[in-house]
Amino acid sequence: QPISNTLFGRAAERMGLHPFPMPSANVTREYENPYGAKLHPCTYCGFCERFGCGYFAKADPIICVYDRIKEHENFEIRFESQVLRIEKSADGQTATGALYLGPDGREYFQPADTICMNAYALWNVHLMLVSGLGKPYDPETRTGVVGRNYAYQTIASVDAFFDDSVVTNPFMGAGALGVVVDDYNGDNFDHSDLGFVGGGYIACKQYHGRPISYQPVPDGTPRWGAEWKRAVRENYGHHGDLVVHGSSMSTPENFLDLDPTWTDAYGRPLLRMTFNFPDNDRRMSDYVMNRAVEIAENMEHVQSVTSSNLAAQGSNYDIVPYQTTHNTGGAVIGTDPSTSVVNRYGQMWDHHNVFVFGACLFPQNLGYNPTGPLMGLAYWTLEHMKNDYLPNPRPLMDA
Ligand SMILES: Cc1cc2nc3c(=O)[nH]c(=O)nc-3n(C[C@H](O)[C@H](O)[C@H](O)COP(=O)(O)OP(=O)(O)OC[C@H]3O[C@@H](n4cnc5c(N)ncnc54)[C@H](O)[C@@H]3O)c2cc1C
Ligand code: SF4
Repeated sequence: QPISNTLFGRAAERMGLHPFPMPSANVTREYENPYGAKLHPCTYCGFCERFGCGYFAKADPIICVYDRIKEHENFEIRFESQVLRIEKSADGQTATGALYLGPDGREYFQPADTICMNAYALWNVHLMLVSGLGKPYDPETRTGVVGRNYAYQTIASVDAFFDDSVVTNPFMGAGALGVVVDDYNGDNFDHSDLGFVGGGYIACKQYHGRPISYQPVPDGTPRWGAEWKRAVRENYGHHGDLVVHGSSMSTPENFLDLDPTWTDAYGRPLLRMTFNFPDNDRRMSDYVMNRAVEIAENMEHVQSVTSSNLAAQGSNYDIVPYQTTHNTGGAVIGTDPSTSVVNRYGQMWDHHNVFVFGACLFPQNLGYNPTGPLMGLAYWTLEHMKNDYLPNPRPLMDA
């Protein structure tokens, strides 16, 4: 582990907490997966926090499964194509296929018996809304379901500045190289008198150190000029990066719908997001951030600590500073068609041959990153599609 992560783990342990290495999809030694894909040991170049790994050291579908499935006769991928709409049958009960824009700029219709929607949480919802799949959520009457339960993630950050004896070399790292404390997440702690539900994990990560986007400076540093440059130079290599990834509870006021004014290049209304942090989540974020500050102050060789809560009381959600890409909800899973878009098998209540994948299924965003659970749900849905649905296509649950 890089030194900042190690110092974080040691401080947390001294405080009676339970730090552990962050799970990640990077490999530390040569590995051949069951499909014959070969992965190389990670070089800790730090590129993959936001980008794919050109060295084949991070698991993703292109590296791990594409080479094998592209040989299957019944598999075809059409690159540079964009689905514009899902078409419905005349009675509206099922979907008939996808209208898409090909690489030549022309529109094509791909008929389909069964459709899997995999376009990412937000774009699944957008496609449903522009295609008339499911009933759109109406925040006035609080009826309808598509766009309902939109939630995000509640992020706070803490910076620990070390004295010169701790050299962190932040340019060496990997996308998810960190140590985590999960003692303040979910029901891992007693909320009874704290005034909020939910929680978050605290991580110390060394994941990129990019020269332009990584310039940690202590509080009170001017935002530009010679003094700022001096502070960046002095602190770049002596910094620990702590972050709180907290839960985000869906509320009736936070939702996705179609923009009444703006359209995209194809004339479709844009997706509109209406969101602000609920008070519950602001309280949660303040609480867990303060626990992170305590750990940072306990790290050896720390000279100063600064913190910032993007969901602080009095502030509004701002889409500009990057927080996370962990959008959830909008087409949630459930057992009641009046509050969910898909049944427990990921099958749309209103159109039984449409199955939905991704974090749009989550009714709330709990204090973890979404990709693990959304992949678990994908396995669950595929199992039921294969064994229950495809042999006998029908609604898998009564509405
Ligand atoms: C910088 C960054 C860091 C992240 N870090 C983490 C992390 O540490 N942990 C974590 O759990 N999650 C992380 N995430 C989130 C994670 O990437 C997503 O949760 C996950 O990729 C969602 O999987 P998905 O299959 O639903 O959608 P995606 O992986 O987004 O796949 C959707 C695919 O559909 C395609 N598509 C979309 N619309 C159309 C259309 N109309 N027609 C045709 N194709 C279409 C897209 O091109 C894309 O290939 C991160 C995301 C980003 C951007
Ligand atoms: S740090 Fe990320 S991009 Fe660099 S080799 Fe490791 S997995 Fe690949």
